[in-house]
Amino acid sequence: SLVLVTGGNGFIAAHCIATLLRSNYRVRATVRSSQKADDTRNALASAGVQNLSHLELVVVPDPTDLQAFSAPLQDCQAVLHLASAFNYDAVPGEFEEKLMIPAVRGTQVVCEAAKQHSTIRRVVIMSSFASVYDASLGLQPGSVYTEKDWCPLTYEDGVNAAAVPIAYRASKVVAERAAWDYVRDNSVQYQLVTLCPGMVFGRMIHPISSLSQLNASNQIVWQVLSAGNEGEIPPTKAPVWIDVEDLSETSIKALTFSGTGHERFLVTQGSYDTQEIADIVRSRLPERQRVPVGEPGKRIADTHYSCDSSKVQRVLGVKFRGLEQSIIPLAEQLYDMEGC
Ligand code: NDP
Repeated sequence: SLVLVTGGNGFIAAHCIATLLRSNYRVRATVRSSQKADDTRNALASAGVQNLSHLELVVVPDPTDLQAFSAPLQDCQAVLHLASAFNYDAVPGEFEEKLMIPAVRGTQVVCEAAKQHSTIRRVVIMSSFASVYDASLGLQPGSVYTEKDWCPLTYEDGVNAAAVPIAYRASKVVAERAAWDYVRDNSVQYQLVTLCPGMVFGRMIHPISSLSQLNASNQIVWQVLSAGNEGEIPPTKAPVWIDVEDLSETSIKALTFSGTGHERFLVTQGSYDTQEIADIVRSRLPERQRVPVGEPGKRIADTHYSCDSSKVQRVLGVKFRGLEQSIIPLAEQLYDMEGC
């Protein structure tokens, strides 16, 4: 069957496309320019992705345009929506245009367009742990988040945010709420599944030509890897995570599992902190690293909230790898890229 993936040139999307193709799905992926279409195909080919002849890349310059977005859904059985601005470049005054509208209107357009195509049975939206937790409450040691929790930020909070991380979190939660509102208020033939992953780490197969283009979550790892032996370990923010390949397996399960209702899943392997990343890289790649020592073995896990993601593991039957297995291939790739 045919799956539409939005934002096909992104870090997570590339892995989702690879997993779908490997599992014998046909994939149609949207990108915003023909250059990005070419770059995506080339990057996936270089990464050895199988069945690339079953991938079609289509250019949709403005994914908030319902008519332009609807045509690519023709003959699709499912949609996996990943396109959303996840970078911290915007400054106050730009948040509505650069973060809120693309996220919220982009998600509404996916829901509306999917209703226009009766072949579509499932819509999977990549939301975020940002849509789940309330960052204003601080570290909250002892609190356990599940998919029942909702970040309280509103559209106005995003537009008027003092700093871009708040605007990003608002864009994710308001976009996800828009999808839930849509399926509540309209009779849809598809099931909605939203996934709320923590920070996503792992080796990259999407088009990226330099470390300056590194996606936001892998930047956290690179900041540790490149801090220098004499440097400080950067502070840990939003300290729950998932591996990118495990998230793409979860996404494919979300597209295909036999459940009959709408579902929301929290997708995290567990807690991480930047000291742990430093410890892993110092012990496993001693010849390559220039990582601060910090306080080896010190962990912040007991000082902040945690997550219970047992629902996704039970319902979708997925298992998640540990931090070392995710970080080492990424670290090797990043040090290689730096040498380019
Ligand atoms: P990337 O930055 O690698 O990819 C983002 C994708 O969204 C790209 O295809 C990009 O296209 C597209 N995009 C960016 N801005 C816009 C816009 N204004 N309008 C339309 N499309 C746009 O991010 P990730 O792969 O990390 O993230 C993918 C999804 O997963 C996002 O929805 C993100 O919020 C979510 N997520 C990511 C997490 C992480 O840790 N990485 C954690 C939780 C959720 P272009 O190149 O044209 O800009």
